[in-house]
Amino acid sequence: MPLYEYKCLDCETRFDALRAMGDADALIPCPQCGSESPRRMISLFSAVGSGGVIAGAGSSCASCTPSASCATCGVKS
Ligand SMILES: [Zn+2]
Repeated sequence: MPLYEYKCLDCETRFDALRAMGDADALIPCPQCGSESPRRMISLFSAVGSGGVIAGAGSSCASCTPSASCATCGVKS
């Protein structure tokens, strides 16, 4: 079951919830203030899981950039 991150629009509390895929957009009450206004955030987990590297496709280390050779891992653009 995927982990979703929510942020309450009333008190700005962030919290995580394990929910079934189909319940991701269903209302969930804020654990802090009880408001039913939390919005689902884009989860880092789902971003990574859906398509590999987020920035700098082809890079293989954190210091690589798409436009320059990398001194850390030897990747050449
Ligand atoms: Zn709240």
